[in-house]
Amino acid sequence: MFRYHPDPVATGSIIADEIICCSCGEERTHRYALPVYGVNEVGDLCPWCIADGSSAARFGTTFNDAVGHHPWYNFYDDDEWPDPPPGYLVVPDDVVDEICHRTPSYSSWQDLSWLSHCNDAAAYRGRLDTAALRAMPELEQQVRHALGLPADAQVIVDPDGDLLVHWFRCLHCGVDLAQPDVS
Ligand SMILES: [Zn+2]
Ligand SMILES: [Zn+2]
Repeated sequence: MFRYHPDPVATGSIIADEIICCSCGEERTHRYALPVYGVNEVGDLCPWCIADGSSAARFGTTFNDAVGHHPWYNFYDDDEWPDPPPGYLVVPDDVVDEICHRTPSYSSWQDLSWLSHCNDAAAYRGRLDTAALRAMPELEQQVRHALGLPADAQVIVDPDGDLLVHWFRCLHCGVDLAQPDVS
């Protein structure tokens, strides 16, 4: 249902619940589990009204703020930014619209930009715990890099504490991307 968030039930963004959707008025078996931006007094929303844009059209709901780019790119100070490397930035407007208005967000500490790669938004795969991150060394290195940690630092993910790691995958080249999220 969601190109950029393929399993929102597994990630906890959509939960099973008997609701009457405030947008379509239908009895539904699932609802969106996260806060909705930009509007007041929106009740339970079904995933179908997110996917088809009807909630955004009716209530002006925004689910995500923006589409960003891979965090290592943030490493450069503003005046040192080189030209974007291939595969980064330049996400078409219709993709930004789909992320912001038709894609369920994910639970995070910070307001985060949706990661992109190959000039498209990437697919959100969920959060990684320490063991999962350790099994994906290139992602652990991305987290170290983004947080400015030394190359031999062990990254400890703490779901209830200071550090979450969100996992995305490029829909085109398949590269895995890590987004650290510090409380
Ligand atoms: Zn609905
Ligand atoms: Zn890619």
